[in-house]
Amino acid sequence: MATAMFSSYEPVSGKVVGEFPVHDADAVDAAVSRARVAATWWRELGFAGRRDRLRGFSAQLAKRLPELAALIAQENGKSDDDARLELVVSIDQLRWAAAHAERTLRRRSLAPGILLPNTAASVEYQPYGVVGVIGPWNYPVFTPMGSIAYALAAGNAVVFKPSEYTPAVGRWLAEAFAKVVPEQPVLQVITGYGETGAALARSGVDKLAFTGSTATGKRVMAACAETLTPVVIECGGKDAMVVAEDADLDAAADAALFGGCFNSGQSCVGIERAYVVESVYDDFVSRLVERAREVHAGGNGAGRYGAMTTPEQIDIIRRHVEDAVARGAQALVGGPESIRPPFVEPIILADVPEDAAAVQEETFGPTLTVTRVSDVDSAIERANGTPYGLAGSVFSRERGEELARRMRAGVVSVNAALTFMGVPALPFGGVGDSGFGRIHGADGLREFTRTHAVARQRVAPPLAVMTFRRTDRALRTLVAGVRLVGRRR
Ligand code: NDP
Repeated sequence: MATAMFSSYEPVSGKVVGEFPVHDADAVDAAVSRARVAATWWRELGFAGRRDRLRGFSAQLAKRLPELAALIAQENGKSDDDARLELVVSIDQLRWAAAHAERTLRRRSLAPGILLPNTAASVEYQPYGVVGVIGPWNYPVFTPMGSIAYALAAGNAVVFKPSEYTPAVGRWLAEAFAKVVPEQPVLQVITGYGETGAALARSGVDKLAFTGSTATGKRVMAACAETLTPVVIECGGKDAMVVAEDADLDAAADAALFGGCFNSGQSCVGIERAYVVESVYDDFVSRLVERAREVHAGGNGAGRYGAMTTPEQIDIIRRHVEDAVARGAQALVGGPESIRPPFVEPIILADVPEDAAAVQEETFGPTLTVTRVSDVDSAIERANGTPYGLAGSVFSRERGEELARRMRAGVVSVNAALTFMGVPALPFGGVGDSGFGRIHGADGLREFTRTHAVARQRVAPPLAVMTFRRTDRALRTLVAGVRLVGRRR
């Protein structure tokens, strides 16, 4: 039977970008079997061998950046500038993972402790084998790269299922990788709809890294539970910015607008809510409104950001905005009329009830709610008042880090927005409905490994108690010694 095919389309023009196979469960299983063989070969290359190849991959991305940025812009609808920014941070992540894998994961010695000083204790982080990666469409390179680069650097082979909206970008990545690793299919791409992703979750991969919506994340986790396959779940967010009385208001307004509208607001870490302390509220809002009026959406370089990628997302934005306005929100910039598919102009809403969808649910569009609060405590309480907990932002000259630590989120920027994405050493991931597990940084490398510990006996123990031939005296001495130490304060 011929393989079924599907197409991806340019969001701006509706033109077909390319045709791709709908991989069924058999095709997915076959890819995972090939990956098993490739994983052994890749692992045996060692840290230095893999580092060289991953640097080669990063060189491909750097050299061909304009070509890949154009493909991202074409298939996802974002502006060329947004695509370039996405690639800049992706390349940096890839290089960081390659450079730090050995130092982070190689075997290292640990102090054996008081009970068995005769033991050489060590731990290392070994690759799982085959890692499945399921990615979304909003950052078709950056989001999966957070798993792919770290899984590869840790010594795993990867089978990657891109979103049905961005398969051409996924295929481009696998082809570019194969140019520097032609020997084995260490990074494969499988394409199709949700069922292809579901087949990957059931395929027996050794770990699955999912990035997408919370609803799908739950389904993926349930499928993985059948085989006890461990998962990393990176889901959506409803990120908030807290603006304190001592904030730099120009910088805060600038960051709120960029954090809200960058990539047409289709960012899991996009700023969707701002809580602003009363004493600076009016000044903040006037700066924000002035800036927002200068920014427009448009295709082919005509806008500061591009089109929405999917029609379904536009429906969600419309529902949130119309509901907020119907419930008494004031549209400071734009409003329902700003939604002109496939583009959405910036929409800034004030006085939105705290239980409205626009405040509680992920909107994933260039919209921002702004809320006046009496003090920073109230701002933090409201910022933490959704089931999500991915990222956030705090503006305060004096108390930034203190307030950041009180945010229920995996990662927070202080006096900026989204800057953590440009620091590859920082682990990234959420809490609550935003998921769990970490990509990026040393935690991200370890996420794609199994911890392997060894206790090697160097010489006979001073007190031999782990034998049926032990003497009463040996055990008594040990117990007395531990009681003595245990009582110390
Ligand atoms: P979806 O959850 O719809 O899809 C994510 C991926 O899962 C796609 O590849 C999709 O395939 C696949 N999929 C769908 N159904 C299943 C299934 N039953 N089993 C396995 N895989 C399946 O998310 P979107 O693509 O719409 O992405 C947007 C979401 O991603 C937002 O909520 C956003 O916040 C979140 N996100 C989170 C990030 C983070 O790092 N925390 C980063 C970026 C985005 P297909 O597209 O073919 O249906």
